[in-house]
Amino acid sequence: MKALVVEDDLSTRLLIKKIAESEGYEVIEAEDGYEGWRIFQKEKDNIYIVLLDWMMPKMDGMKLCRQIRKAFSTHYIYILLLTSKRNIEAIVEGLETGGDDYMTKPFSRRELVARIRVAERVAALERKLSEANSKLHVLATTDPLTGILNRREFLKRLQDEIYRVSREKKFYTLIMLDIDYFKRVNDTMGHTAGDMVLIEITNRIGTELRPYDLIGRFGGEEFLIGIPMANNEIGKNIAERIRTSICNKPFNAGNGKLDITASLGLTSVIPTGNKKNMLNLLEDMIEKVDSSLYIAKDEGRNRVIVYGE
Ligand code: GH3
Ligand code: MG
Ligand code: MG
Ligand code: MG
Repeated sequence: MKALVVEDDLSTRLLIKKIAESEGYEVIEAEDGYEGWRIFQKEKDNIYIVLLDWMMPKMDGMKLCRQIRKAFSTHYIYILLLTSKRNIEAIVEGLETGGDDYMTKPFSRRELVARIRVAERVAALERKLSEANSKLHVLATTDPLTGILNRREFLKRLQDEIYRVSREKKFYTLIMLDIDYFKRVNDTMGHTAGDMVLIEITNRIGTELRPYDLIGRFGGEEFLIGIPMANNEIGKNIAERIRTSICNKPFNAGNGKLDITASLGLTSVIPTGNKKNMLNLLEDMIEKVDSSLYIAKDEGRNRVIVYGE
């Protein structure tokens, strides 16, 4: 972790540097706000605390403080203001500009150490919070069994994707895949074996897709796949590849091997309209893949049906 010390007075700067180093920081020094800002922009992802003098040539501490607050950073930057101003107005201004704490000069070593440790506590809390947030984000957007997008997130991304494609006037293919007679897998091999098959299916589908294609779990053993820049013909090729990758090799299911097949329904469109229309379009596409899938089941399963063909 790095600390940025911005202070024009050399002896004060060295003193602060020594103290921050004794608290475990790697210290970068700047002798005015201008230099501080230049360094900050380069190092902001590694800087956790800025010890900032107020009165400095070229760019003063307040201006730098404001700029740091406006800049995007991956984590919270703690700003400790150092000032010889003791009047309340100045202190209030410093804190309102974005300072987290202030210390008046001259200061004692013990006081600076204590204030640096406060910064450390804030940073630790922020780390915990952001870790918790990313865990929550994963939970809210993915399916825990297979790790792919859950239904809500898939539909959200699909809507964005369709809108993006609509501005480029390109095709978009949507595929719905449903595993055939999946209930039997659970009934004969057990639920854990069923889960293993779901994970394996996800992997096999994923192998056939490109990084910018979308895959999500729509329901129990139903998956949705979104493919940009694919018309019926290209979409059908991909759907056939997915179907074959599932039926041509048995699945590991606990103690035994299992032959699995899946049915797929497909539709493609060149989306038009504004962002609001995308929701209707999306519902319409889902209805179409669903009805095509129904036909695929009806006609004997293990096949791809393109809507309207
Ligand atoms: P069809 O060919 O008509 O699609 O028949 P099916 O048996 O696949 O369809 P059905 O809808 O009758 O059964 C789906 C089964 O999927 C029922 C349910 O137990 C199983 N299932 C849904 N989610 C999970 C899951 O997360 N894990 C496991 N192991 N099974 C699941
Ligand atoms: Mg100064
Ligand atoms: Mg189903
Ligand atoms: Mg099924």
